[in-house]
Amino acid sequence: MLTHTLGFPRIGKNRKLKRSIESYWKKDISPKELADIAGSLRREHWQMQSQNGIDLVPAGDFSFYDQILDLSCALGAIPPRFDSAENMSDLDRYFLMARGDSSLPDIAPMEMTKWFDTNYHYIVPEFYPGMQFKTKRHPLIDHIGEAKTAGFTPKAVLPGPVTFMALGKAAHDGFDKWELFDSMLEAYCGIVADAAENCEWIQIDEPLLVTSLAPEMKARYEQAFNAVRKHAGSAKILLACYFDGIAHNLDIVENLPVDFVHIDCVRAPEEAENIMSSLKNGAGISLGLIDGRNIWRADLDKVLAAAGKAVDKLGSDRIMIAPSCPLLHVPIDIADETALDCTIQSWLAFAVQKCRETGIIRDTLISKRDTGSELEAARAALWSRQSHPDLKNTDVRERMAALSEDMFFRSKPYSERKDSVAEKLELPLFPTTTIGSFPQTGELRRTRRQYRVGKLSRDVYESSMKEYIEDCIRRQEELGLDVLVHGEAERNDMVEYFGEQFDGFCFTEQGWVQSYGTRCVKPPIIYGDVSRPEAVSVDWIAYASSLTDKPVKGMLTGPVTILAWSFERNDQSRRDTCLQIALALRDEVMDLEKAGISVIQIDEPAFREIAPIKEDSRQDYYRWAAECFRLASAGVADSTQIHTHMCYCEFNEIVREIASLDADVISIEASRSNMELLDAFRQYEYPNEIGPGVYDIHSPRVPSSEEMVQLLEKAAGILPPERLWINPDCGLKTRTWDEVMPSLRNMIEAAHKLRAEYSTQQ
Ligand code: GLN
Ligand code: ZN
Repeated sequence: MLTHTLGFPRIGKNRKLKRSIESYWKKDISPKELADIAGSLRREHWQMQSQNGIDLVPAGDFSFYDQILDLSCALGAIPPRFDSAENMSDLDRYFLMARGDSSLPDIAPMEMTKWFDTNYHYIVPEFYPGMQFKTKRHPLIDHIGEAKTAGFTPKAVLPGPVTFMALGKAAHDGFDKWELFDSMLEAYCGIVADAAENCEWIQIDEPLLVTSLAPEMKARYEQAFNAVRKHAGSAKILLACYFDGIAHNLDIVENLPVDFVHIDCVRAPEEAENIMSSLKNGAGISLGLIDGRNIWRADLDKVLAAAGKAVDKLGSDRIMIAPSCPLLHVPIDIADETALDCTIQSWLAFAVQKCRETGIIRDTLISKRDTGSELEAARAALWSRQSHPDLKNTDVRERMAALSEDMFFRSKPYSERKDSVAEKLELPLFPTTTIGSFPQTGELRRTRRQYRVGKLSRDVYESSMKEYIEDCIRRQEELGLDVLVHGEAERNDMVEYFGEQFDGFCFTEQGWVQSYGTRCVKPPIIYGDVSRPEAVSVDWIAYASSLTDKPVKGMLTGPVTILAWSFERNDQSRRDTCLQIALALRDEVMDLEKAGISVIQIDEPAFREIAPIKEDSRQDYYRWAAECFRLASAGVADSTQIHTHMCYCEFNEIVREIASLDADVISIEASRSNMELLDAFRQYEYPNEIGPGVYDIHSPRVPSSEEMVQLLEKAAGILPPERLWINPDCGLKTRTWDEVMPSLRNMIEAAHKLRAEYSTQQ
């Protein structure tokens, strides 16, 4: 009975890899130095896994940016626009593909998008007609050698060929990327053959198998795995499926010529038995029993019972034990935390601890050693968590029990409340606003940090925040914006900021996970009932409002986004946790209104992100997600205008769900798609107001007023002009004032032109 992991976090302790890559970009270290650091990190990570009971360590999970991009490169699937960069080293061209280069503005980087329902972003493969694939040396071949030299038993890890192709995009409409499947597969098998020559185990990741698949995919899977089998020689093939169950695709999986199938027993615990009975060809099963997506210690007794059943059925030779998915999505080591409450710390398991748990399960099952004391410690931790008084807050429980239907709905529909809003706010046609944050200078960040570590008094901190707010208000007045914002100076992060002031959250020092490339995030942990001891944002926003006659918009992060960007509880439903957050936000909304704020924005950029992968579970998710948003927002008077904001997701599929939020106004990112996504809003006859972004905030470029007018005219051709707002795509905190001021000036000019044009027409 072997233990393994599907992948380990690669960023390294203290985000060593991130820091090294960024030094390389700044030319502070050489390619050789970067390679050496990467090699020693790999060895360190194998060591951590092996020491904690993992038999087969992954090789191929390491990447300088993204493992899907690594595969694109190893297959020679390089978009033609990078041909001109041929004098670059492979590594530099790789980074150019991933992130572009400001000195080569004509070569756009490849697109990036979210990996299934995670917050990890992969680089989207691009497929062109006639694309020539060729097998190049995949870096994992070297990694296999390194692992063996260092005395470990490696397992080669590759993204699967079908998932790879399915997640890529065709270079233009009308081109069927699957035409390339045969030739891609041939090159892919070259990599498999290289790996098989050096390694006894090959793991092929096919998370696509948890999604609903079109009927023709069955043949593709069969073709792909027959080919892989042929080229894998005597190596054992492990097909890895994760992030959900695969029962609905069992007719595909059961016939594939593989040695082991890995399943996610955390997301779909009920499926194991059925899958085990169905596997043909004597294939074994790898049980993904330890949660690779969350940070709680496992209930080992429960897991052992499930694993024991599997052993009874298949025998221990045909069972492998593993975490449910690659450990990329959890931080590295709980032992690195020095400031966390010790009791809470004892409830948590990061990647290293998850390896340990995996080892304990196996060792117990085959009585390899006495695991009694470790099992006892796990039980004690579980008990300590279950019985901890901070987990349950009686007030919150009472409020949850007393939720009534009317709390989820505004008292009147949008069509009947819009006049009272108009009367109160007196906004012009095409009102202008921004999404919330303004440029965050190094000085601002320093001030926040110093206050946080106690080096700055509250008075000094508050007065410098107020100075910033005042500056923001003056600038917005000077620009002539219609609905102003305070600028979010006090917020380091839109989720962390609220989490820190709500009860039920805790924070780590080193709990980083990779979001994309060298960007890492440190999600808060929701461990207990969520409540709001006191107002969070009201003072700042009321202060901003006191400085101007214009309406100032109160800015909040929505319940779904707070949930999505945190590690959540696993001892109650997601929906319940989200409702609790919504109640805390509802208090904040009501307090803002009481303080005279009549426009309140509740950001939900993660609304789409955590929708279940399986289509048939999505409706239920969207129902409760919208309920949570409305619970947070619906308590206000008719004349209070509720805004929401979403960005960087597929809007087409969710217009109806967005409409069910019943926000008076939604601002969305739209400039890069050239307003095309508005078609979905027209088709659905989206009933409320909408601000399609006219300014791509990811680019330092200052857009001209002409181009913004063009975008807006296009929008006004699609949606009724009297329901359109004008705003950037997203918050401006990553830009500089030098870029933001002229861009917003042009945006206001565009608004004036449009008003002139459309008011004469009406
Ligand atoms: N209000 C937030 C800001 O402006 C919204 C950020 C987001 O959508 N991710 O920064
Ligand atoms: Zn945004």
